[in-house]
Amino acid sequence: MAPPPNSKNAPSSKSSNSSRAQISVLTLFPEVIEPFLNSSLIGKAIDNGAVEVQLIQIRDFAEPPHFRVDDKPYGGGVGMVLRADILYLAWRSAVRADSPSQTILLSPQGARFDQALAKDMSEALALGTQYVFVCGHYEGIDERFIDACVDQEISIGDYVLTGGEIPAAALIDAVVRLLPGTVQKSESVRADSLEDGLLKYPQYTRPPDFQGQGVPEVLLSGNHGEIEKWRNLKREEVTARKRPDLRKPRGQS
Ligand code: SAM
Repeated sequence: MAPPPNSKNAPSSKSSNSSRAQISVLTLFPEVIEPFLNSSLIGKAIDNGAVEVQLIQIRDFAEPPHFRVDDKPYGGGVGMVLRADILYLAWRSAVRADSPSQTILLSPQGARFDQALAKDMSEALALGTQYVFVCGHYEGIDERFIDACVDQEISIGDYVLTGGEIPAAALIDAVVRLLPGTVQKSESVRADSLEDGLLKYPQYTRPPDFQGQGVPEVLLSGNHGEIEKWRNLKREEVTARKRPDLRKPRGQS
């Protein structure tokens, strides 16, 4: 399905030449995502070459002099609709010809993003699948682009944002974080909330007294077996209290 990349417009990308894992983001507002790519663990993962993230300005594919990317909806109604032909050109420039590629439209109509999906995507990314994220804006996107180019629609929750940039950043964060090497200690990822259907145990650090509240004795005991037991018990308790839905057997709503 993917035609060869179009070299007409050079997209901005943050990358190391050695990375195979690639995420391309089609957006009208790259400046919303850019600072996030330069920060913290995701910035480091990009600098280390674990992943390349390419930001593609959709407007670069519109015609001068006005560079319009949207138009009024056929049939009337409020708002503006992103044009299929311009999105298509931007998409064609993004899709790599030499590897499998998955195009994801960030959309409140999509499947709900969760840790299981983040894991699947991270594994596919590590194995060489390129992800192309399409950020919508305004009232919507011409359905013909979705039919022709989008493999999956993903939502980050049942609320409507002004654009797909924050959802795209959320997906990049969750997916890149799971790539080997992004988080230095892999046991830290394995012990995270939601990794095995449980939330994380409560955590404490200095000072030992905060406004009259101490730290559970067992954590100061140095007894690693007891600490492990306490933490496992707390994971069950916290999950039952905060997210009882996670403990329901599969198939039960
Ligand atoms: N009119 C559209 C509808 O009712 O489905 C909503 C358009 S919304 C204002 C603009 C863009 O923001 C969407 O095209 C999508 O890319 C993004 N967006 C908004 N909420 C989102 C969510 N919960 N998850 C993922 N993307 C979202």
